[in-house]
Amino acid sequence: MVNDNALPSDLTLDPDDWESMRALGHRMIDDAFDSMAAIHESPAWRRMPDEAKAHFTGPVPLDPQSPDEIYEEFKEYVLPYPVGNTHPRFWGWVIGAGTPLGALAEFLAGAMNTNTGGLDNHSANHVERQVIDWIRQMLAFPTTASGVLTSGCSAANLIGLAVARNARAGFDIRRAGLQAAPHRLTLYASQEVHSSVQKAVELLGLGSEALRLIPVNARFEIDLRALQAAIAHDRADGYRPFCVIGAAGTTNTGSIDDLTSLADICQADDLWLHVDGAFGAWAALAPGAAHRVEGMARADSLALDLHKWMYMPYEIGCVLIQREQDHRNAFSLTPDYLSHGAGGGGLAGGDLPWFSDYSFQLSRGFRALKAWMSLKEHGVARYAQLIQQNIAQADYLGRLVERAPELELMAPVSLCIVCFRYVQSGLGDAQLDAVNKRIEVELQERGIAVPSTSTIHGRCILRAAITNHRTRRSDLEAFVSEVVRIGDELAASL
Ligand SMILES: *Cc1c(COP(=O)(O)O)cnc(C)c1O
Repeated sequence: MVNDNALPSDLTLDPDDWESMRALGHRMIDDAFDSMAAIHESPAWRRMPDEAKAHFTGPVPLDPQSPDEIYEEFKEYVLPYPVGNTHPRFWGWVIGAGTPLGALAEFLAGAMNTNTGGLDNHSANHVERQVIDWIRQMLAFPTTASGVLTSGCSAANLIGLAVARNARAGFDIRRAGLQAAPHRLTLYASQEVHSSVQKAVELLGLGSEALRLIPVNARFEIDLRALQAAIAHDRADGYRPFCVIGAAGTTNTGSIDDLTSLADICQADDLWLHVDGAFGAWAALAPGAAHRVEGMARADSLALDLHKWMYMPYEIGCVLIQREQDHRNAFSLTPDYLSHGAGGGGLAGGDLPWFSDYSFQLSRGFRALKAWMSLKEHGVARYAQLIQQNIAQADYLGRLVERAPELELMAPVSLCIVCFRYVQSGLGDAQLDAVNKRIEVELQERGIAVPSTSTIHGRCILRAAITNHRTRRSDLEAFVSEVVRIGDELAASL
């Protein structure tokens, strides 16, 4: 006889009272939609007071608290102090705005709590396969290419470059590791390359020195001659060049490398072409900009985001690999306890590969659902219009800047990015740098708008990246006049 007292009770994390949990859920949705609908009237950003920050100290909770109470705490201390990127006048860094249905999809994915890493015979894998297929279609990538959804473009760059390294090292790098490399591997990108690429290169054991940074032309695009010279130079010195990283939209200025020429160079020189298209890849959808990313579909690997210029809620990115076998060669590994693909039915008995064969992750969430629902909700034509609208808005902002005597455009407007600064005769460069930095802070602190700052030609500049489907023309007009007003205020106080 088993001892019946060994299990005193059946504990669970499910609610005792489903009805009050359901009521709380309804209230959450009402509150969330109320604040989304009123976003135009709320400040673009507000500083988190020290008392609110102090709320997030203290020990791990020992005793239970009611969900209603926890939600009240959320409303008081969490909800009022977001980054602010859902706001129409948020243009800092490159951050997307999200959508209501996207938020609901996140909830549904959480409720299903599916694991989309392995296992085969379940719906989420089919949803993700279809989303990847749609991404291939939208970006004119061949249907034979493989892909996997990622947390973002940093992970997509890491996966793409891992596949590149393994495919082009010239020896079995998975077994022998970089220690066995007979020649030092090198790769090439412009000076404007995103930091996530350098991080990937470091993580892959190549060392940041192996990433050769090539100068750019006046439009901030990679200098093709300098690139070819650097490759030839390294070869002559006994290195093994294996990869070129092209930019489809740099973060700083939105510049796009000549991807067709990069593809030609890589083809002629037997190099892997990886394209970082975090946001700029989506220019492919915009009738007026698609020609600028021509050549992108020839990339051996393409990394991109859907949480920036496709306006989907964080996190979601994607990497596409031109030849599926390269992709699997880098990541497929099947221990006994994960054996799959043999047919025979059941969750693990289908004949499709698992997503764990295409990335370093095993367990994965259901981020595909928000992409699937969003693309169905709006249709690709609407995304194309919105991306085109953001490009037109950036051009318009650029013209407003050019028209204002107090403002100076600091880089050609490219895609959705505008770089400019406030100027005032009589102020030196150091003073102007300080004024522009302060303009950014004042705009944010006063809740007017959120641009960010960066450095171009050694000068501090204001930067607007319009990956925002809520921005209206009037928001840009207000932004420019506030920059000038605050700049004048600051200049007068010097
Ligand atoms: C944002 C960005 C990345 C990194 O993407 P995450 O989604 O933030 O990880 C890489 N490259 C470029 C050009 C970017 O703009």
